[in-house]
Amino acid sequence: MHPGDVDGERAAQLASSLGVVRARLAAACEAVGRDPREVTLIAVTKTYPAADVATLVRLGVLDIGESKEQEAQRKRAELADAATAVRWHMVGRIQSNKARTIGAFARAVHSVDRLKLVDRLAEGARQQPAPVEVFVQVSLDDDPGRGGAVVGDVAAIADAVAARPELRLRGLMAVPPLGTEPAAAFARLQELGTRLQAEHPAASALSAGMSSDLDAAVAHGSTHVRVGTALLGRRTSIVS
Ligand SMILES: *Cc1c(COP(=O)(O)O)cnc(C)c1O
Repeated sequence: MHPGDVDGERAAQLASSLGVVRARLAAACEAVGRDPREVTLIAVTKTYPAADVATLVRLGVLDIGESKEQEAQRKRAELADAATAVRWHMVGRIQSNKARTIGAFARAVHSVDRLKLVDRLAEGARQQPAPVEVFVQVSLDDDPGRGGAVVGDVAAIADAVAARPELRLRGLMAVPPLGTEPAAAFARLQELGTRLQAEHPAASALSAGMSSDLDAAVAHGSTHVRVGTALLGRRTSIVS
C-alpha cells in the first residue's frame, strides 16, 4: 500500500477491526464453552458505502445487515455481480409497504414484529429459491415504540411464520431496552427463546448483541451478532 491509497487504507482498517471483533467473539465463546462456529457475524453496513460491503465480502464476511430497504437496494445495484455472494439480513424496522420487496431479496429478516408483515414477506419470498429466515423481534420492555412485538404477541407471529413454507422460523431477536443492563435483557431473551422452542423446536436461533454488548449476548446463547460500529466505525448520521 502506498500513501494516498485510500481504498487500500480502508481495506486494511476493515481487516484490522474484523480481526478484533473475531477475537472478541472467540473469547466470549471460550468463556462459556461455546464453539465460535455457532455464532454468525453479521456486518451491519447501514450508512456505509457499497465499496465497504465489497471489501467485507473479500475478507470473507458474506452476512451483511442493513436497516433500510432502499439503502440495501441501492447497494445491491451498485455491487452488481458481487451482490450475489452476499447474504442480506434486514435488521431495522420494516414498513408494511416494503415487506414484499424485502422478502424477495433478503436471506434473513430479523425484525418481524407484527402479523401484517408475515404474508407480505412470504409473497416476496416466493421469488427466492430457498425459504427466507425469520426472527421475531421481541420488545423486552413491552414498549413497542422502538420496534419489537410485546411478549404476549410473539407466539401468534411465530405460528404465522411457521405456517408459511416460503419462510423459515429461526428464533427471536431483541435489542436491549435503553438504560437496562444488556446481560439481564439477553437472559430474558434466552428464556423466551426456550419457551418458543417448546412449540417450534427448530427455532433455536437468537439474534442478539451489537458492538457494545456482543460478549454478554454470546454468554446468553446468541447465535447471530449484528455488528456495525466495531467493524466499520462510528456512524455520523443518525439511523434507527
Ligand atoms: C445499527 C444496528 C446494529 C449495529 O449496531 P452497532 O452498535 O453499530 O454495532 C445492530 N442491530 C440493529 C437492529 C441496528 O439497527
